Amino acid sequence: MQIDIITCLPKLLESPFSDSILKRAQNKGLVKVNIHDLRDYSTNKQKSIDDYAFGGGAGMVMMIEPIDRCITFLKSKTEYDEVIYMSPDGELMGQSLANQLSLKKKLIILCGHYKGVDERVRQHLITKEISIGDYVLSGGELAAAVVADSIIRLLPGVLSDETSALSDSFQDGLIAPPVYSRPAEYKGWKVPDVLLSGHELKIMEWRTEKSLERTKERRPELLKNNC
Ligand code: SAH
Repeated sequence: MQIDIITCLPKLLESPFSDSILKRAQNKGLVKVNIHDLRDYSTNKQKSIDDYAFGGGAGMVMMIEPIDRCITFLKSKTEYDEVIYMSPDGELMGQSLANQLSLKKKLIILCGHYKGVDERVRQHLITKEISIGDYVLSGGELAAAVVADSIIRLLPGVLSDETSALSDSFQDGLIAPPVYSRPAEYKGWKVPDVLLSGHELKIMEWRTEKSLERTKERRPELLKNNC
């Protein structure tokens, strides 16, 4: 898979992809993440990428030209499945969207700033808009990293145990059961006996029961969606 992220603040995206699982995924050649500095596509001397909003009002707007030049350049080299714009009014990110996107081969993700991008970018250059929640961030970079992370960890071979992602919350419409590790007792706080029993079937049953309990308690609407 290839993910090309367009940003005017490339530094913000350095660390999320240079550690742990996302770094290993790239080192193993399972995903290529390219960060593109939008300012490289600006045609003026100051490398500016924003300007005042027509009609006035507070806040700058990201201009269409550098964005168009960047996307056109990327598209001249390869074909993309989706050109995504991170936006608070986009489709709400969720596990099923992460699953769908993990099946794609090539994605562009555009990060906005200021008041957002010139509307014509959204009308003519973007194929999908994604929000990570009903709140407003100062830029799309953290949101793009969240979306990319949720996709990349689903790619076959990225997690050391392939089945791990399948047992995570939301994957089967339920919240994941509680997990424990050594020591079996700490300050008198014990791990449930069944997990130490070595009885696979009982452990599975216990986990399913806890998953259901937790979902009922914390996210009852997920159970309704499942019916
Ligand atoms: N004026 C816009 C907000 C712009 S915030 C509005 O009111 O809708 C600046 C940029 O941050 C956006 O262009 C977008 O790329 C990013 N952003 C902010 N909140 C986001 C969210 N919840 N999900 C995804 N991207 C977001």
